[in-house]
Amino acid sequence: MDWNEIVAALAAAQTGKTSEWAGFTEAITVMGGDINAAYELRCGPQSFFVKLNSPDKLPMFEQEAAMLEKLRQSGGLRVPEPLITGVMASHAYIVMEFLAIEPANEQSAEELGEGLARLHQISNAQYGWADTGWLGLSRQPNQPSDNWCEFWRNQRLGFQLRQALRNGIPPHIGSRLELLNSSVEGLLGNHQPVPALLHGDCWHGNCGMDATGRGVIFDPACYFGDAEADLALTELFGGFPDSFYRAYWSVQPRAAEYEVRSQLYQLYHVLNHFNLFGGLYGHRAGTMAELLLAEMGH
Ligand code: ADP
Repeated sequence: MDWNEIVAALAAAQTGKTSEWAGFTEAITVMGGDINAAYELRCGPQSFFVKLNSPDKLPMFEQEAAMLEKLRQSGGLRVPEPLITGVMASHAYIVMEFLAIEPANEQSAEELGEGLARLHQISNAQYGWADTGWLGLSRQPNQPSDNWCEFWRNQRLGFQLRQALRNGIPPHIGSRLELLNSSVEGLLGNHQPVPALLHGDCWHGNCGMDATGRGVIFDPACYFGDAEADLALTELFGGFPDSFYRAYWSVQPRAAEYEVRSQLYQLYHVLNHFNLFGGLYGHRAGTMAELLLAEMGH
């Protein structure tokens, strides 16, 4: 791997920001990502965080840079600063500020909870986003909409369900999921939350703390939607301590219906996992669908 082109582009982008530019020293693999190759790029005393993928993924990195910028403008939590994106040789790349990220401790989890709640206070006229997103390697439609129930039915649950049917989810589960989606107004029909700025992929692997203990969020899949959808994902794979939820709910009071709606919001991610990884996620989706259908009396 020849890093010189990225380093030259970085040097040009850093002109005026830094007095000395050391040039390439080394690149160290960073583990923990889902879809991209990640590196700490060292240029003398400075470190940068780089993600690489195939050249056709440049729009994905450009979008990630725009989302990181949006999250940074929202204040509150620490978000890595995106620096450059581009294509060199056989790779698309994004380079951003390097942060020594560690799992959140009790105190930074509290900060993350409060910060996420503050993020959710940033609103928009409609649900959605300016362009189609990515959720891992899945696409995530974001066509602007005034109706949350329709947005969720068509662009979230329905979108993943159509793929799951193509990907061979067992027919008896598929038909129950179709019934759930066609009757989803039983759960969301009266629910028109303020369109809130969401991180969109807020599981514990995309949050942490920096070297000073400050809460950090990264790797977003932003859109404007129901704040509860972000919270629901934090609960799906666990990993957030009680201090996170106490802090979150103290800013953004918990609705009684969250208990049920969060199951529906989690189902979207479980179906996405079925579509990406297959296997038992299909059965898990089936069990969740049964609980939600029972809730509606089906
Ligand atoms: P992917 O897009 O492949 O899922 P991530 O954005 O999640 O990759 O990054 C992979 C890992 O790199 C994360 O788990 C995290 O530990 C680390 N990481 C993410 N952003 C930064 C950063 N700005 N500086 C240093 N390390 C980071």
